[in-house]
Amino acid sequence: MAQESLRAQYEALLRAEGRTVRRALAEGEARAYGAASLYERISSDFRRTLAEADIALPEPVLVAKYPHESFNAQARAVRGGTLILVNAGFSLLVLEMSKAFAASLGFFSRDEDGGITVEAATPAVRERRRIAERGMARSVLAYLFQGDAAHGGRQPLDADSAAMARLLTEATERFVVAHEFAHLLEGHLATPAQRGAGEWLHRTREQEFQADETGMLLLLRALEDGPEEQLASYLAVAGPLFFFAIDHLITRVRNEIDDIPQGMRLSDHPGSDERGAALRALLTDIHGPLVLHMADACVQWLSWHEDGIVTAARGQLAG
Ligand SMILES: [Zn+2]
Repeated sequence: MAQESLRAQYEALLRAEGRTVRRALAEGEARAYGAASLYERISSDFRRTLAEADIALPEPVLVAKYPHESFNAQARAVRGGTLILVNAGFSLLVLEMSKAFAASLGFFSRDEDGGITVEAATPAVRERRRIAERGMARSVLAYLFQGDAAHGGRQPLDADSAAMARLLTEATERFVVAHEFAHLLEGHLATPAQRGAGEWLHRTREQEFQADETGMLLLLRALEDGPEEQLASYLAVAGPLFFFAIDHLITRVRNEIDDIPQGMRLSDHPGSDERGAALRALLTDIHGPLVLHMADACVQWLSWHEDGIVTAARGQLAG
């Protein structure tokens, strides 16, 4: 009953933005996954984990997409609960970045200590890299100018890299939802009695770091005793660090290219570099540095490409 009421209020909010529910749900998620229920699946996973630990969410929550401009999710008070609204342009941008990463995996090899060796850059490798950079630049520009990476076109996805691209995208989305659940669990959002319906709920900088930490612990807890727990935890750790690296890239493109619409310059969360460093310290404390292997591969890969993406973005704007 509470969920139905939240959904009705969510749909009313979308209509007020001139969007129908069908269209909003079709955006990003349906194209990326062939299903409109990814966030419901993630939420019910977390609810189950919390129930097993005898922790109750303090109030009814609905997680859904909404066309706001922050790369992070936003929480909005409504009658009888909270909407956790993930930026509608977010999923596809992350998916496109994940596809480029997955397609580049052939560029790495692993040594015996688990370190990463980059393959020599043959002309074919350099060409694949340029194609990936141009694709990522288009996605980032479409995201920044039009609020939706879909306008930047889709990179090809082959059978070898499809699974990794989807897993990494989903790991990133799980972190974003876990972070918002953590705000609720930590009592960062005013209680329903203290706030007006229709209010966007704001958090302090300290609360953001705390939500990253609690959200990460919730994610890892949800994996405990699952099949292939270790591999799953590498991926769960890669999700947030890849998210921060993408946010770092978006921030850089936004700062270095002058014509970005003003609304897209907003950020209400602390810088991604700081958040990533704090999360790294936490994870190394709990699990040792090994758990960061896949995360490091993603983050290093994106930082190698960053200059190329910025150059390609400038070229695309000029052309
Ligand atoms: Zn937050």
